[in-house]
Parts: sequence; C-alpha cells; structure tokens
Amino acid sequence: MASKKKVVDKSSTPDYDRYRVLPSEPIILSKQDPDDSDRQEKKKDIEQELEFQRQRLQDLQRRLYAEHKRSLLIVLQAMDTGGKDGTIKHVFSGVNPQGCQVWSFKQPTVEELNHDFLWRYHQHTPQRGMISIFNRSHYEDVLVVRVKQLVTEDVWQKRYQLINEFEHMLTLNNITVIKFYLNISKDEQKRRLESRLENPSKRWKFSRSDIDDRQLWDDYQIAISDAINNCSTGYAPWYIIPANKKSYRNLVVAHIIADTLEAMNPQYPKTEEGLEKITIPD
Ligand code: ADP
Repeated sequence: MASKKKVVDKSSTPDYDRYRVLPSEPIILSKQDPDDSDRQEKKKDIEQELEFQRQRLQDLQRRLYAEHKRSLLIVLQAMDTGGKDGTIKHVFSGVNPQGCQVWSFKQPTVEELNHDFLWRYHQHTPQRGMISIFNRSHYEDVLVVRVKQLVTEDVWQKRYQLINEFEHMLTLNNITVIKFYLNISKDEQKRRLESRLENPSKRWKFSRSDIDDRQLWDDYQIAISDAINNCSTGYAPWYIIPANKKSYRNLVVAHIIADTLEAMNPQYPKTEEGLEKITIPD
C-alpha cells in the first residue's frame, strides 16, 4: 500500500534561525510575540511535519551515538506551564532512550548549596555520543535566585560571566550547547493554570508557589531578558520560541535541534575492511 505520509520539501522549509538571539542584538522579552507563527496549516498538518523532523532527529541521534566523539546539551527554560515537559515528550518521542537523558533541576539540596552553583549541573552534562536535556538549568541561578533575592546582586551579577565560561569550556570539550526559552504570554499561563486546576489528571502539577511566581511575572521577564542577552553567545546560542501554540512550539524546537545535529554531521565509525565478506557460521 502506498504510504500516506506527506513528503516534506526541505527546500521550502522555513529558517527558524530567526528565533536565535544574536549577541549583537539584545532583546526585550515582553516585545517577543508568543503567538508568532508562519503556519496557517491545520494542527494535523503541523503534526505531520513534526513527525518528519522527529525522523531526522532520530536518524542523526543514532549517528551521534555511534560516532561516540561529541555530544549535545539542550537547555530548556520557561515560566510555569510554559511547556518544558510537553516539548520533551513530543520532540523526543521515538529517540533511542539509551542515547538521551533528561535532567530536571528543582530547588537545590543542602549538599548542592554547599558547592559552587554550577556543581550540580556539571555532573549531568552529556557523555560522548549522548544528548542531555536540562529541564530547568544553571539559568535558575540568575532567574529565581535573582527574583526571589536568594543571593545578593553582586553574587548573581557575576554569574553571567561564569555561565559563559562554563558553556565555553563545554563547547571546547566537544559538547554542542543550545538553549531554548519557551515564551508564553501571561494570559496563556492563566488559561493553563486554570486548566490544571479543573482537570483532575493535571491537578497534581499545580503548586501554590506557581501563583507567587506569577505575581512576579514582570520581574521574571526582566531577569530572563538579562540572562538571554548576557549569555546568548556564538558558541552557545539562546532561541526564544513562540510557545502559546503547542504544535508550532514542538515543530520549531524539533527543527532547530535537527538542524543543529545536521550541522555537527556525526558519522558512523569506519568499520574494518572486508566485513561484508564474512559468513556467520551455523
Ligand atoms: P517544574 O516546574 O520544573 O515542573 P517544580 O514544580 O518541582 O518543577 O518546580 C521546581 C522549582 O525549583 C521551581 O520553582 C524552580 O524555580 C525551583 N528551582 C530550580 N532551580 C533552583 C535554584 N537553583 N534555586 C532555587 N530554586 C530553584
């Protein structure tokens, strides 16, 4: 039976590099449109294209794993309900779990607080051949920590440079670093929080502290803008992803990750000559 899968013409696929924050062009987060989209198609068609990007990602991840020389670190940040969990679920479904690890960072433990702020993150940077996804990350240490005044300003101010140096060190060690901020609007967050409260299967995700953070929305927007502007570098770029529409968000993130892996161009290791002539004995 003929396949019904849509054939996606790669030459016509859009350039999502426009969501990349250039070091020379600082952004103001409140001016970035969370509804931006170049897609008029129905959700079903966007999902079909997402499937195409997932296939690319799966193929490239197989090669990265086999090559076993380099790795990829993906940082995901968002306000509560911004869609970090959903993005991981939809973009990485089908990727071989053996080559991919997700690390979620919550409030630091006493042991973590007794070390330098990067200690707990460094332990989970990817090994050769692997993809690590940070669900929240070292950026919390210039976001929540700044907004809630958990350290003094002279401490968090120095962290931008330390983060840049940390990420630079990773890239010099063959780890490609890309960072996504999933940008939802305040109204969209309200809808999503209400939906969490209404839906018994989602209610467990709701925490009263989500409301405290929501009340600090404007402070977070400033802190996020500063983090992105100080730390979107040529070697470890930030992308601001319009995230009010989940299907578009997933498509753009999957596309950028696949493009990043494609640019890395991982290769299957060379095999010994003559293997094709070997007969396996009965
Ligand atoms: P999530 O919202 O990621 O699904 P939780 O609801 O458990 O997970 O929230 C994790 C909490 O941990 C967030 O409120 C976040 O701000 C907090 N957190 C993460 N990293 C840090 C940090 N370095 N310092 C203080 N709080 C942190």
